[in-house]
Amino acid sequence: MIAPSDIADAVAALRAGLLVILPTETVYGLAADAVDPRAVAALYAAKGRPSFNPLIAHVANLAGAEAIAHFDDRARALAKAFWPGPLTIVLPAKDGAVSDLARAGLDTVAVRVPSHPLAHAVLAAFAGPVAAPSANRSGRPSPTRYQDAVEETGRACAAALDGGACAVGLESTVVSVLSEVAILRPGAVTRAQIEAVVGPLAEAAEDGHRSPGRLTRHYAPSAPVRLDAERAEPGEVFLGFGPGAADLNLSPSGDLAEAAANLFTFLRQADLRAPTAIAVAPIPEHGLGEAINDRLRRAAGFVG
Ligand code: AMP
Ligand code: MG
Repeated sequence: MIAPSDIADAVAALRAGLLVILPTETVYGLAADAVDPRAVAALYAAKGRPSFNPLIAHVANLAGAEAIAHFDDRARALAKAFWPGPLTIVLPAKDGAVSDLARAGLDTVAVRVPSHPLAHAVLAAFAGPVAAPSANRSGRPSPTRYQDAVEETGRACAAALDGGACAVGLESTVVSVLSEVAILRPGAVTRAQIEAVVGPLAEAAEDGHRSPGRLTRHYAPSAPVRLDAERAEPGEVFLGFGPGAADLNLSPSGDLAEAAANLFTFLRQADLRAPTAIAVAPIPEHGLGEAINDRLRRAAGFVG
């Protein structure tokens, strides 16, 4: 069992690309450097996520948030009203400020400034965005106590902070501030509280309240994607996996965590070459391979 760490240990672990159990006022988070795709891949693996949902980037303050996302007056008003606190704002992402994998290839980013003093101390010292989905393994309830968080994913962590029981215990409200303002996930901040700041809200698209990650279009390249390819046909770009010739290799050594870390970035790079198609080598279906294949099938248009 991992012993409770201090703030300096937690920050050092994040800097080293390792995972940390981080208390927030909503639920316990499993935290990783949001800029480092390897760290984010390790995070998805530790949660056993069947697919790469976009993750919330946690920052210490509004300046940290403005470093990664484009704010307008509506977003700034919401930030001033509810931060630090349990409101997550989805905004257009600044290029390269958060890894493609943490955003699941979307061109938007979800940002939040938590109010928990330990989370705040870590984020202020780390001084960069931290991805921190709930610390449970996929399909299990979010942990709101230190012991539960450690039982769920502590084995995968280099540090764990004991912040007591979570004050809110309910996930943050996720609101998108794009062409319209809409609630993607109801949570600790109510619709009425949000409308008091920005006026009447748009209706989120159907299903938005159930699974906001699925609501937004996941990254699909403009070139067609051909799966389980042994080699490239003329005009195609070949995305390899494992040993062998490839235009871009997701992981020459066949490491699924490395492939996950490279996936969205390489799809984007392959697409920039305007090929007739992106041919992708077979990826094993176990471990992170399930999520990689899920995303590849989506990119190939097999899943809505
Ligand atoms: P969790 O971190 O487990 O509390 O979940 C994060 C929530 O934020 C999920 O419901 C995601 O689908 C949602 N989310 C994160 N990033 C985005 C984004 N760019 N667009 C829409 N929803 C997002
Ligand atoms: Mg969760």
